[in-house]
Amino acid sequence: MFPYCKLKEKDILNYLPCVSAGQVEASLRKQQPAFSDFLNFLSPAAAGMLDRMREFSAKVKLRHFGKTVRLYAPLYISSYCINNCVYCAFKASHSATTRKRLSMEEIIEEAKVIKSYGMDSILIVSGEDPKAVSVDFLVDMTRELRKMFSYISIEIFPMDSASYRRLFEAGVHGLTMYQETYEYELYKKLHPSGPKSDYHKRLEFVAGGAEAGFYNIGIGALLGLSDWRTEMVSLAAHGLWLRKHYWKSKINFSFPRITAIPGGYTPPSSVNDAELEQIMLAFRLFFHESDIFISTREPHEFRKKMAMCCATHVSAGSQVVPGGYCKAEERKSLLGQFTVTDQSSPEVVRDDLQSCGLETVYKDWDVCIGA
Ligand code: SF4
Repeated sequence: MFPYCKLKEKDILNYLPCVSAGQVEASLRKQQPAFSDFLNFLSPAAAGMLDRMREFSAKVKLRHFGKTVRLYAPLYISSYCINNCVYCAFKASHSATTRKRLSMEEIIEEAKVIKSYGMDSILIVSGEDPKAVSVDFLVDMTRELRKMFSYISIEIFPMDSASYRRLFEAGVHGLTMYQETYEYELYKKLHPSGPKSDYHKRLEFVAGGAEAGFYNIGIGALLGLSDWRTEMVSLAAHGLWLRKHYWKSKINFSFPRITAIPGGYTPPSSVNDAELEQIMLAFRLFFHESDIFISTREPHEFRKKMAMCCATHVSAGSQVVPGGYCKAEERKSLLGQFTVTDQSSPEVVRDDLQSCGLETVYKDWDVCIGA
C-alpha cells in the first residue's frame, strides 16, 4: 500500500465486499464525495452500476471541462534503459540490437511530423538512459521544442529537484511518473536491478518534481500487476497526499494496462474493460478537477466511450518506437515500449471524437506569467 495511506490492505478487502448498491447510490448523489465514497465506487456493488456511474461521471466532466478533450502525442527519444522492469520491452536484459536513441536533429524531425497532425502538446518519453539523454541534452531539446509546442511534459527517468527545475525553466511544465505498483514486496520483485529498484526513492522523486514547480504531476499504477482495487486505493491516497503537500501542482491520473511485449510477460491479475471503466469512473467521480489520460494501449471504441464521460486527454497516432513517426516501416523491427491497440490516425481519432459531440482541442494552455 502507499506508505502514508491510513488504511491497510485487509481493511479495504474487508470493507469493499460489504458495500451495498444503496451506499453506492448515496455516494453518487454527493456533491463532494469523501474517501469512503471513493471506496464505494470501487466496490463489487458498484461494478453492477456502471450505467449509473457513467451518467454522474459525465455530468462531473461536463461541469469542469465542458465538452473538450485534448489530443496529444508521445515522442520517444530513447529505448535504451539501465533498469530491468520485468514487464517492459525496454528492460536492460532485452537485446540491444533492437534499440534506438535519437539525435537532436532526429527529435526535431519527429516533432515536425507530430506538429503536422495539428498537435500542440507533446509528451517526451525515454528509457533511463542518462549517458546519452543527459539533463543538458534535455534542456537543449526543450528549448528547441518550445518553438513548436505550447505544452511539453516528460515521462523519463527520475532526477533531483535542481535538474527538474532546470527543465521547468527551459519550458517543461508537466511530469508523469508511475509508481507501477504500490505493493512494496511485489515492487522489489518486478524491479530487480537499476536505480528504479528503490521503491521509496521513486515516490520521493515524484514529490521532487512538484517541489521543482511542474504545474502538472501525472501518477499511475500499471494495471495487471496486482489486485486492482487495493492498487487504486493506494493511487488515490498518493494523489491526495501530493495534493495536500504540493497544492500548487495539479495531480492527474493514468491507468495503463499491461500489453503484450516481446519475449512475453503474463500479467498475474489482468484487468478487463468493465473493470478499467469502473476505475476511471471512480476517479472522475472523486477527483473532479484532475485530468484523466487514456492512451493508445486501449481499443478505439473504449477510448471514445471514456472520452465522453470521463477522460480529458487522449493520445492519437502514437508511435512507441524512437523515430517511429518519420520512419514507421523501417523502425518496425525495433522494440516498442508497449503494443499500440488503437492504431487509428490522428484525423480518425479527432473525427470520431467530434462525431460524439466532443470538442477536440490541441491547446488549452499558455504561459503568461513566470517561466
Ligand atoms: S518501465 Fe521505464 S524504467 Fe522500466 S525498463 Fe521500461 S523504460 Fe526502463
